[in-house]
Amino acid sequence: MTNHVPRSVPRVLPTLDEPSAFFWTSGADGRLRLLRCSPCGYFLHPPGPLCPRCHSRELAPVEVSGRGTLHSFTVNFQPWDGVGDTYVLGLVSLEEQPDVRLTTNLVDVEPDAVRIGMPVEVVFEDVNDEISLPKFRSAGSKA
Ligand SMILES: [Zn+2]
Repeated sequence: MTNHVPRSVPRVLPTLDEPSAFFWTSGADGRLRLLRCSPCGYFLHPPGPLCPRCHSRELAPVEVSGRGTLHSFTVNFQPWDGVGDTYVLGLVSLEEQPDVRLTTNLVDVEPDAVRIGMPVEVVFEDVNDEISLPKFRSAGSKA
């Protein structure tokens, strides 16, 4: 898989506790996984202990396409930690279930070129041996 991107600025990393540990480690093999309810098929994100639709606790991580559309975004220009650069914070709706939205960064795109509704695809930034942060790039761009 070539959907891994170079490390960006240092950042506070997520803790690997349940039920979300799988989400942060899933990208090691280049695949995005979300928690899915086994009885009703609903994807829930962020991960939680029970399905918001049918209240089942039979949930398991399932691989998804990693494709979606940009629902909304903002561009950060403020170097909050003194090392930050300009970056795009995006809200991505996933192809499998549009009401599942990931708060993420858009990479490999100039902020002026970002548009609501643009097709995007997942890439991963491997920040250490365990954690791969899911980010998104324009589905038309190839690294
Ligand atoms: Zn359910």
